[in-house]
Amino acid sequence: MIYLDAAATSAVRREVLEAMWPYLTGDFGNPSSHHTVGESAARALADARATVAQWLGCRASEVTFTSGGTEADNLAIKGIALASPRGRHIVTTPIEHEAVLESVDYLVRHHGFTVTTVTVGPDGLVDPAVFAAALRPDTTLASVMLANNEVGTVQPISELAALAHRHGIPFHTDAVQAAGWLDLDVKTLGVDALSVSGHKIGAPKGIGALYASGRLPVEPVLHGGGQERGRRSGTENVAGAVALATAARLALASRAENAARATAAREAFVAAVLAQVPDARLTGHPSSRLPGVASFVFPGTNGETVLLELERRGIVSSSGSACAAGSDDASHVLLALGVDEDLARTAVRFSWGPEVDEAALVAVAPAVADAVRTVAGLGR
Ligand code: PLP
Repeated sequence: MIYLDAAATSAVRREVLEAMWPYLTGDFGNPSSHHTVGESAARALADARATVAQWLGCRASEVTFTSGGTEADNLAIKGIALASPRGRHIVTTPIEHEAVLESVDYLVRHHGFTVTTVTVGPDGLVDPAVFAAALRPDTTLASVMLANNEVGTVQPISELAALAHRHGIPFHTDAVQAAGWLDLDVKTLGVDALSVSGHKIGAPKGIGALYASGRLPVEPVLHGGGQERGRRSGTENVAGAVALATAARLALASRAENAARATAAREAFVAAVLAQVPDARLTGHPSSRLPGVASFVFPGTNGETVLLELERRGIVSSSGSACAAGSDDASHVLLALGVDEDLARTAVRFSWGPEVDEAALVAVAPAVADAVRTVAGLGR
């Protein structure tokens, strides 16, 4: 079996599991406890925070550990918007993850916000001029993802953030899919808030982090004991934080090399699929895209049926975002890119981590061609 669904989740890395193990067993303390067992957990948490801060190029006090990317996005959108005295207007894009879109929708339904959703081009890119035109004096927050989870398009975040800053508007980016592949230095990106999730880079599911600039007021979403400097109450997931930090350290050490290798592998894979499946079309931007994602539409098929045929051939992939799995709706991302609904239902996303090499990927192409032929021959 070859697992090509890394954008949905990845396995926990051995080094990560070994690093977190002590904090689930011997050093299991509560970091708020005033005894040696608690102090040892508090030290591990502080070390993990410092490592994540190094990864993101920020201060340790600006890192809030969360239960994952979804919570980090919720905290960024609701927390920053509700704490801001600027107004009640948000600018975002139609291709954001549901964690962002639904948080914005919550603010609209319950807190009187309005939203401007900037259109994206057929390659998924936000046009900076269109983005700039959406910014208003009462805009509280702009949120644009660094890289899209379905088509892999990478946005010009530093340019967009600079435009927002010209009007004094804070800028958040969802970097969940970019983690491990792209530079997440918040100063280089010029962002005020950034979300990451552990399970996309070899830490377990259920741990993530939000960077939020120390200058930015953030209204908590979870209220309680005041942990995480009051930004996120709840007994800290010490082992999870250690896991995220370990995965981040490993990702940081080999990021450029992994990205270059995976980009070459992606190019070879895309070329092989397009050569062997005559009608196939790559979705997303041709070059401004993640190294580990290639998604296609296969006209005359049904994406879900192609997936089943692929799995019969030992290839595990996805029809889009795992979060939308189980729903029959066409992908909101592809629809926003102008793909019509029927074609959007033929989408298949292949995504991989740094461990998958070019030869293995290219070897998958004939099976993709065979699966697509089978489904097209079935008349879907
Ligand atoms: N944002 C993006 C772009 C994602 O791809 C995902 C998960 O797939 C999330 C947010 C949510 O992260 P988590 O699964 O850690 O809640």
